Parts: sequence; structure tokens; C-alpha cells
Amino acid sequence: MIADRIQAVRERIARAAERAKRDPAEITLIAVSKVKPAEDIRAAYEAGQRDFGESYVQEFQQKAPPLHDLADARFHFIGKLQSNKTRPAAGLFHAIHTVESVKIARRLNDQTQRPLDVFLEVKLSDEEAKSGMAPESVSEVADYVRECENLRLLGLMTMPPWSEDPEAPRPTFRRLRELAESNGIRELSMGMSHDLETAVEEGATYVRVGTAIFGKRVRPQ
Ligand SMILES: *Cc1c(COP(=O)(O)O)cnc(C)c1O
Repeated sequence: MIADRIQAVRERIARAAERAKRDPAEITLIAVSKVKPAEDIRAAYEAGQRDFGESYVQEFQQKAPPLHDLADARFHFIGKLQSNKTRPAAGLFHAIHTVESVKIARRLNDQTQRPLDVFLEVKLSDEEAKSGMAPESVSEVADYVRECENLRLLGLMTMPPWSEDPEAPRPTFRRLRELAESNGIRELSMGMSHDLETAVEEGATYVRVGTAIFGKRVRPQ
């Protein structure tokens, strides 16, 4: 079941890449396993999946121990990062997609025991609840992260306002790409189960897909 769904998502990515005249190999599929059990991660791993996304530090602290044998799996943190969780997050994850301030970057750089890949989360809508930095702050935070010896600045990340319409986030995805280009940043973490085609057409290099792989979640996020 999980293996078939991963295959279907990979085909969606490949078709969208083809339309955009892009090489699908440039696009990393992150299987978002938040609130799903460790066995689901193992099943996806056995189907060849290597990149996983989690949103809650504490939840993943509990899920991670039985997965230690998945030596080449890569875990991406994609949730809201509270400053009191930077130390465990730096220990558990290979990449943090939600760095939204110099303060969080400084803590990660000070607390990590190994090089950490970093994405800066940008807020491109006026929604109150959305996290992420203002687009105007990207250049300052990017400069700071580039000076951090334990952090590697990979890309920008955004989470557009929820819409059923997969076309709705296109202008947001495009803005993220332009912002990355103007700051000399390569990677773009954008696109989820329902809008990954739009994201791939607009240049996504990491798509974060949960529901389409692991099924509906009970908790809303
Ligand atoms: C949950 C989540 C996803 C995956 O969403 P789906 O709609 O289940 O694919 C992607 N990105 C972030 C930041 C998330 O929190």
C-alpha cells in the first residue's frame, strides 16, 4: 500500500517535471510521516524511500529509537521550531526547513554535533497563523547562516495558505523562487500532496508529501 502510493507520487513528480522540462532527479521527495507510526516509516524505507519529514520534536524523539538501523535515511524537520527544542532537533534531524530567525540559527549552530542542512522559512502571506520570516529578512538571515561553521544554507521553504485549488499557490511558489534567485540560494522546499505539480512546475527541488503516501492524519496538521 505505502509502496504503491510512493510510486504514484513519484510518477506525479516525473510528469510535472516533464511538463516543466526539468530533470526529475533534481527533485527530492520527502515523505512526511508526522503522527504516523515508526512501522510506516520502515515500510516506506523498504520501498526505497530515504527522506522523511517530521513536524514535532517530541514525537520524533519517541519514534526514532527503533529506526536506528535505517542508517542512510535522512530526517527533515518541517514543523515550528521553538527555541527550547533546538538542541534535541539538532541531534535528531539532518535538515531543518523552518529556520525563521538569526536566534534559531545561532542556537542550532552552537548546539549541533554535526553539520546541519538549513532552509529558511519565508512567510509570503498575511495569514496570522503562518510562521516564517518576512521576505525582507531573508538576505540578513542568509548572510548570518553562511557565516555559521556548522550550518549549510541549502534553500528556502514556504507553506502557502491552505486552498483546495492546486493552482492557488502558484504565485507564492514563484515568489519563493525569485527570492531564492536574488539571494543566490539554490534549493526550494515547497509543494505538498495536493499541489506538488504546481510546485514542481515553479521550480521545487524538495516536495513534502504526507497524506498521498501515508493516508489521512487524525490530527489536522
Ligand atoms: C504536514 C505537512 C506537509 C504534508 O502535507 P500533506 O498535505 O499531508 O502532503 C508538508 N509540509 C508541512 C510543513 C507540513 O506540516
